[in-house]
Amino acid sequence: MMKSTNSSLSGRGSTIADTQQVMDLDRAHVWHPYSAFNADLPAYPVVSANGVRIKLADGRELIDGMSSWWCAIHGYNHPVMNQALEDQLKKMAHVMFGGLTHAPAVELAEQLVALTPTPLQSVFFADSGSVSVEVAMKMAIQFWNTKGRPTKQRFLTIRNGYHGDTFGAMSVCDPVNGMHSLFNASLTQQYFVASPTCNVGDPCTDNDIAPLEQQLQDKQEQIAAVILEPIVQGAGGLRFYSADYLCRVRALCDHYDVLLILDEIATGFGRTGRLFACEHAQISPDIMCVGKALTGGYLSLAATLATLEVSTTISNGKPGVFMHGPTFMANPLACAAGLASLELLQTTPWQSAVSQIAQQLEKGLDSCRQYACVTNVRVLGAIGVVELVKPVDMAHIQPMLVEAGVWVRPFGRLLYLMPPYIVQPPDLQQLIAAVTDVVIHLETSLT
Ligand SMILES: *Cc1c(COP(=O)(O)O)cnc(C)c1O
Repeated sequence: MMKSTNSSLSGRGSTIADTQQVMDLDRAHVWHPYSAFNADLPAYPVVSANGVRIKLADGRELIDGMSSWWCAIHGYNHPVMNQALEDQLKKMAHVMFGGLTHAPAVELAEQLVALTPTPLQSVFFADSGSVSVEVAMKMAIQFWNTKGRPTKQRFLTIRNGYHGDTFGAMSVCDPVNGMHSLFNASLTQQYFVASPTCNVGDPCTDNDIAPLEQQLQDKQEQIAAVILEPIVQGAGGLRFYSADYLCRVRALCDHYDVLLILDEIATGFGRTGRLFACEHAQISPDIMCVGKALTGGYLSLAATLATLEVSTTISNGKPGVFMHGPTFMANPLACAAGLASLELLQTTPWQSAVSQIAQQLEKGLDSCRQYACVTNVRVLGAIGVVELVKPVDMAHIQPMLVEAGVWVRPFGRLLYLMPPYIVQPPDLQQLIAAVTDVVIHLETSLT
């Protein structure tokens, strides 16, 4: 148990005296993501974070291999990000977006339009990735409704996808391993096909694409859009697939009068080695969702981008408006963080940083391939995945990783690294070594 007293633990206005009290109150009152209330496994109290290091209340520093769920691409406590937020805070923290506008929102929208594929011209800000997916789905339905094709209300997707935790988003997550099977009866039944087996770099054969084409042929009058995570499927299994598959999906969507929604929430802003993963296939979607790294991990913000065809069709038809509007839409602080993060990305050599991370991950994780407890090791951009035969026992493995001085949070059968782009080779080596040690530990405890 951690027992240090640390006056910097709490913020102004807080009466919390020590670490133990944080942990006790946490257990007494707080839910954590995908966790039991009053869980046996305590959450680790954090007091600060700087660069790639997360500092625990007991003074230990952990090298972050998760970028706080793939967001903190520039690391923590970055002076440029901090300054941008301080500057914006002096002007305003928030104003409503209905009937009002502000420079941070319009500048961020302009930047997003400039950085994403050309046909995407209209930006709808949302508060989280899941909400941006809901917005994308509503746009697709409203688009076809306006076009006089109101039967097009369903979505087609591939298995092993993850698009968020809200109801619409849940309906297009993998129905089995998408963590939501409990809710299946209250979800809209969407159309699913097997996820592609053609690997990155491989051509996509007629067999690979046949199931998707068949569904489009049969259900085109029901399907509003195909929704996919391009190239890398995130929380549904961290699977990678070929760009050629994506090219063929684009062509089929055009052929069958179905929109294409790309969920770039996990892949966007350089993670796969391209600014957006759809660039691997040189295609563009009709609607694109971005989130996670959009604000460099500082604040919750996402956006749904649409082509002019989608946005003007919706706006010129009945009822003439798009039916969505979150309370905290385009929060100025979040937009300022987004602008600063994009500026940092564009003024730093992120491509070479990501490709160096890729090379080091490839080389460093290679030795994991020899073990029987490992089924697959794969690397793309700043993503390194070790897939295991069995799910990880978190009660045992999480403390082991913390002891090794790293913050790595496996899920299911996946041990993976998605470090901030600023990670330096020795720190990345420590992350790789910690993952490798877990694998060796699992291997020896198997026999
Ligand atoms: C994380 C994620 C989401 C959901 O985003 P939240 O901000 O957690 O709501 C949706 N799609 C993908 C691909 C994601 O990785």
